[in-house]
Amino acid sequence: MRRWNGWGDDAITYPVPPSAIEFLTQVIGPTTPPRDVPLEQVVAAVPEGRLPEHPLVTTDPEERVRHARGQSLPDWVAMRSGRIAAFPDGVAHPSDASQVRDLIRYATGAGTRLIPYGGGTSVVGHINPLPGDAPVLTVDLDRLNRLQAFDTSSHLATFGAGITGPDLEAQLRARGTTLGHFPQTFELSTLGGWVASRSSGQQSFHYGRIEDMFAGGHVETPAGALDLAPHPASAAGPDLRHLILGSEGRFGILTAATVRVAPLPEHEVFHAIFFPHCEHGHTALREIAQAHLPVSMLRLSNAVETQTTLILAGHERLVELAERGLRALGLGADKCLFLFGVTGGHKLVARARRDLIGIAKEHGGRHVGQYMGGKWRDNRFYSAYLRNTLWELGYAVDTLETALPWSAVPAAAEAIQAALRAALHDSGERALVFAHLSHVYSHGASIYVTYLFRVAPNPEETLERWRSLKDAASQAIVAAGGTISHQHGVGTDHLPYMAAEKGPLGMAVLEAARQTFDPQGLMNPGKLISAR
Ligand SMILES: Cc1cc2nc3c(=O)[nH]c(=O)nc-3n(C[C@H](O)[C@H](O)[C@H](O)COP(=O)(O)OP(=O)(O)OC[C@H]3O[C@@H](n4cnc5c(N)ncnc54)[C@H](O)[C@@H]3O)c2cc1C
Repeated sequence: MRRWNGWGDDAITYPVPPSAIEFLTQVIGPTTPPRDVPLEQVVAAVPEGRLPEHPLVTTDPEERVRHARGQSLPDWVAMRSGRIAAFPDGVAHPSDASQVRDLIRYATGAGTRLIPYGGGTSVVGHINPLPGDAPVLTVDLDRLNRLQAFDTSSHLATFGAGITGPDLEAQLRARGTTLGHFPQTFELSTLGGWVASRSSGQQSFHYGRIEDMFAGGHVETPAGALDLAPHPASAAGPDLRHLILGSEGRFGILTAATVRVAPLPEHEVFHAIFFPHCEHGHTALREIAQAHLPVSMLRLSNAVETQTTLILAGHERLVELAERGLRALGLGADKCLFLFGVTGGHKLVARARRDLIGIAKEHGGRHVGQYMGGKWRDNRFYSAYLRNTLWELGYAVDTLETALPWSAVPAAAEAIQAALRAALHDSGERALVFAHLSHVYSHGASIYVTYLFRVAPNPEETLERWRSLKDAASQAIVAAGGTISHQHGVGTDHLPYMAAEKGPLGMAVLEAARQTFDPQGLMNPGKLISAR
C-alpha cells in the first residue's frame, strides 16, 4: 500500500550500510531518529468537512489525510509530525470529462476551491489545501486512466490525464511505442501532472521534455471547455498549449492529453566514465551536448555527489574494490562520475558510444564500462525510497534545481552550493550539499542540487532549518540569473521568486489568463501566480 507520510509503497525499503551511517554522522552529525505520528491519530483529528453533499464526493477522513500533502520537505514535516494545517473537505474521483464539468459546476455554486490531483508527487506545495474559510475539494484524476485513441501513422496517443507512468508505458509498449518520459517519480506521477508542472524525464536529451510531447488535449475550466488540437505545427498566433503546460491546476482540469510517441528503441545501454576533476567533465559534457550525438541520458555528478553515491551504494566490499581500481587509474578524491545512456538502432548506439567516449577521453575521462550505468538504470526509480530510510535515521533530504546558459553554469552551481553550506552556520548545524548536471541542452544545462541536514527535535525547528536553506539557495539562484525551477514547478514554495523571473507585465498576463479561465478564483488558489 502507498505510504501516507513518505515515499512510495510501504512494502519497499532501501537499507543503507553501516559505513554510510558513519559517513553521515561524521559529515552532518549524530542524530536521534524522529518519532512519527501514526495515521490513526491524524485521521482522528480531521475536522468535519464543510462541503454540501454530492454523489461523487467522499468526506472519508483517511481519504482527506491521504490527499492533504505532497512530497516537499515541509509536506514531510507536516505528515511525520501530524501537524497538517489544512485538509481538503472532500475528495472526488471523476471518471470522465462530464463528471469533471459537473464537479466544477458544483464548486462554482458553493464557492468551493478545487485542487486537481494527479499522483500527489509535487515537491513544491502544488496540491496542498491552504487554510481559509472556503471549503476545498480535491479532484483526484486517477479514474481518467485509459488510452482513448491511438493514431498509428501519426504516432499520436490520447490518454485520460490521470494515467500513471507504468500504465501509460504498458499501453504504448503493447503498440511498439514509448513516450520516453521517465521522471524519478515515474511509478506514481501522472500525465496530467507532468503537463501541469512542465516535467522533465531522465532521458529528456533524446525524447524531449513534456512540452515536446504534449500535442493537445481537453481542458475543463470554470469558464468552459478548451480543446487543443494536435496540429503538428501552427502559425495561428501564440500556442495555447503553453498556457496549459505549467498551469498547475490554476486554469482548469486537463481531462485528456494527446502525446507524441516514438517507436520503441532497438537498443539501449547505460555506461559510466570517471573524470579526474569536475571541470574536465563539465567541458566534455558541453561538447557532447553541442555535438548532437544521439545519446538519451547525460548526468555528471560533482565530487561530493560521486563520493556520497559510492558510499550509499550499499555494497561495501564492491565499493572498496572500485575505489582501489579508480585510484590505480589515477582518479583521486576529486573524481566525478559521469553516466550516459544511448538509445536507438544498434549501429547508431555503437557509433554514438564511440564518439562520446572519444570526446570524454580528450578531457581525461576514463570509461569504466556498463556496470555502474546498469545499476543506475535498475535503481532509477527505487532511489527515491532512500528518503524514507534517511528520515527514519534522522536526516532530512531535499533537492532543488535551476537551469542556465553554459557560460553561467559553473559559477551558479558553486554559488548555490556555497549558500546552502553556509545557511545553517548560525545555528551550529551542518548540511551535506552536492550537485549534478543533467537535462543538458546545446545552450545550457540544469543544475540539480541535493542537501541533507539533521531533523530537529521538534517540527518547527526542522522547518526553520529547511526555510533557511531553501531561502539561501533560492536567492542564490535568482542572483545568478537562473530560473527558479527547471522541472519541479512553482506551487507555493517558489511563488515568492516568480515576479523576479517573469517581471510585472509577465505576472499580469498570467493573472489575466487566470481571470479569464476562472473569474471566481476557484482553481488551486495560492499556487503559481498569487497567494490567493
Ligand atoms: C523523489 C522525487 C523525484 C522527482 N523527480 C522528478 C523528475 O525527475 N522530473 C520531474 O519533472 N519532476 C520530478 N519530481 C516532481 C514531480 O514528480 C513532478 O512535478 C510531477 O510532474 C508531478 O506529477 P503528479 O501527477 O504527481 O502531479 P501532482 O503532484 O498531483 O500535481 C502537480 C500539479 O499539477 C496539477 N495537476 C495535476 N494533474 C492535473 C490535471 N489533470 N489537470 C490540471 N492540473 C493538474 C496539480 O493541481 C498540481 O498543481 C520529483 C518528485 C519527487 C518527490
